[in-house]
Amino acid sequence: MNAKTHLLIVDDEEANRDMLARRLERHGYGVDVAASALEAMAALAARAFDVVLLDVQMPGMSGIEMLREVRSRFTQAQLPVIMVTARHESVDVVEALDLGANDYITKPVDLPVALARIRTQVSRRQAERALADSEERYALAVRGSRDGLWDWRIDVDRFFFSARWNEILGYPPEEATGQIDRWLDRVHPDDRERVRAEIDDQLAGRSSNFESEHRVRHRAGQYRWVLVRGAVVRDATDCPVRMAGSVTDITEGKVADALTGLPNRVLFMDRLGRLIDYRRRLGGMDFALLFLDLDHFKNINDTLGHQAGDQLLIHVARRLEQGLRTVDSVARIAGAERSASPVGDYTFARMGGDEFAVLLSGVRGVADAVSVAERIATLLADPIELEGQQVFTSTSIGIALSTTSSGPAADMLRDADTALYQAKAAGQARYAVFDHAMRQQVVERVQFETELRQAMDRREFVVHYQPIVSLSEHTVTSIEALVRWRHPARGLIGAREFVPIAEDTGLIVPLGYWVFDEVCRQVAAWSLVLPSLPRLAVAVNVSARQLAQADLPDRLAAIAARHGVPTRMLEIEMTESAMIANLDQVQAVVLRLKAVGFRLSIDDFGTGYSSFTYLQRLPVDRLKIDRSLLASEQESSPTALGILGTVVGLARHLNLEVVAEGVETPEQLERLQRIACGFGQGYVFLEPVAPDPMSRLLLSGGTSPSPAPYAEADLPA
Ligand code: C2E
Ligand code: MG
Ligand code: MG
Repeated sequence: MNAKTHLLIVDDEEANRDMLARRLERHGYGVDVAASALEAMAALAARAFDVVLLDVQMPGMSGIEMLREVRSRFTQAQLPVIMVTARHESVDVVEALDLGANDYITKPVDLPVALARIRTQVSRRQAERALADSEERYALAVRGSRDGLWDWRIDVDRFFFSARWNEILGYPPEEATGQIDRWLDRVHPDDRERVRAEIDDQLAGRSSNFESEHRVRHRAGQYRWVLVRGAVVRDATDCPVRMAGSVTDITEGKVADALTGLPNRVLFMDRLGRLIDYRRRLGGMDFALLFLDLDHFKNINDTLGHQAGDQLLIHVARRLEQGLRTVDSVARIAGAERSASPVGDYTFARMGGDEFAVLLSGVRGVADAVSVAERIATLLADPIELEGQQVFTSTSIGIALSTTSSGPAADMLRDADTALYQAKAAGQARYAVFDHAMRQQVVERVQFETELRQAMDRREFVVHYQPIVSLSEHTVTSIEALVRWRHPARGLIGAREFVPIAEDTGLIVPLGYWVFDEVCRQVAAWSLVLPSLPRLAVAVNVSARQLAQADLPDRLAAIAARHGVPTRMLEIEMTESAMIANLDQVQAVVLRLKAVGFRLSIDDFGTGYSSFTYLQRLPVDRLKIDRSLLASEQESSPTALGILGTVVGLARHLNLEVVAEGVETPEQLERLQRIACGFGQGYVFLEPVAPDPMSRLLLSGGTSPSPAPYAEADLPA
């Protein structure tokens, strides 16, 4: 019994009124009494009642008249009225019911009957109140939400779509009802079977709640991603009769990349799939897929942090996006010469991580795709400003053409990825066009990578040594350590073949420490038998990856100390490109390397930026001029000659020692001596050799003045 239920008893006869009031109070009701219609109306104005018990016969305003008055203000649901009549007043009862009385009881009042009728009115009123509340809440929720609603009467297959559902899919709000097929027919063919299965599972009670993400066709033809949620209503026999729920448009989250706002992989693959479909059905219309991956992105992340990495991705996205808009005209100009039609549409998407993709429709051949790849390379040529630093970035690109790649979208992407892999392997900042032979090459390279990783554990690496010779005194002044891989099947493999791969995979870091340790061990061993050794330096190469590690100098110094080798006997060779990529960060490491006592040299000078300005910021001892500069002299063009001479002159001016790399012929040697280049290294003296022959060379007094060139064959056995 609800103690809060409040009744109003209206009766002019005091005895009746009070007795009924007392009895109802005993049953837990709150009761007010009124002796006349007027009094009753005043009471109704003063507070809310749940039920009115109204006497029909009253002097002055009768019960019937009062009922008329009540109904002009309250509906039956708002204020139930039970008429109380004498048995013979059946005419009044009919009139009262017509006027909107909810029920009646007769006098003398039979209490159980009265209680039953009151309870009925109270509970109906509560139910209606609850329904009104929930309807109101529901209406508010519908209005406030961006979701659409649906309601499926399973027994009669009548499907209700709310206005918002229709809006999501571009239909007018009036198209509110239909059959479930109106939904399912619009579901993307690739999703349809799954959605049906999900509904079936739900109806069969195999899933607890219904939640399905799928694509639905918009009226305009494109697909939207929706999340449909719902629940099943079952009848007494547990048979599903109704299913209802909500629908949310999740296209934005599904198809846009949160960081760059570009289309994401999902959308890209969707477009690619449709293009493939279209071409299969209607023929013609070739297209190309360009798959991009930023070079050395991991370095940026590792050295500058993830936030900077994100910024870089955003910059790259914006720059390419803006630049690609003009692709149309670029391709058209290129195409005009071949007098063909221009490239059509394109989609530019972020595929995840540092991967991007461009889908070009309407290409006429590989040249169109290549011109876009080249355009992308130029777009990224200028440095990007990141947290006050200039950062250079480049991208490798794999290209797949619809004419070469067949099969579903995923296959074409894999082909482009294969080409991308090939472009990376060829040395980054390049593009490669997929062909079928490539797949085999990639398989082989993956195999090579795996073996390289295992080579470390299998102790397959060895260090060879090559002398660096003073050109004026013909003495060995230092030795460069060069790593080799003793491959079980392929024999000795040079660094050029596997060091770049070790750099890509990160293996170069542990390998670098191993080489350094091995070199120190060797130097310590030589020291025992060679009193003249301390005048010699042994040079070890370090890669960009190693230079990015702040603790590199101290770890190297610790290794040297462990072998009892003074750091001044060791020279660290760093390539120009490794320095430039991130000068500020590298500078700290370089200064520290110097501080702990290592000699420093710049390797492969002349292949990259060949800038002297940064050299002034670094405590470098030597410059090693790349052999390409010397080799170009062969063409004996006066400009090439000039460049070599200028570099040597400038280096001398900066107080740097100069080593010419790759000296192969006596003519080259002579020319170097003419321009007063201090040192040389190359086959004309000696190729890199195993530790044993190098030991013999050193023992034979190679460090004292002796005639050059050396050849391994001439070394004492
Ligand atoms: P680099 O430091 O410039 O080493 C010189 C390269 O030129 C060596 O190739 C050497 O064998 C080769 N070379 C020497 N004289 C001549 C010549 O007269 N003509 C020609 N054509 N080549 C000559 P290698 O050993 O294959 O090494 C290639 C590169 O790999 C090295 O270039 C260096 O950058 C890197 N590298 C080698 N060992 C290591 C290492 O232990 N750690 C790291 N990080 N990189 C290494
Ligand atoms: Mg070197
Ligand atoms: Mg070099």
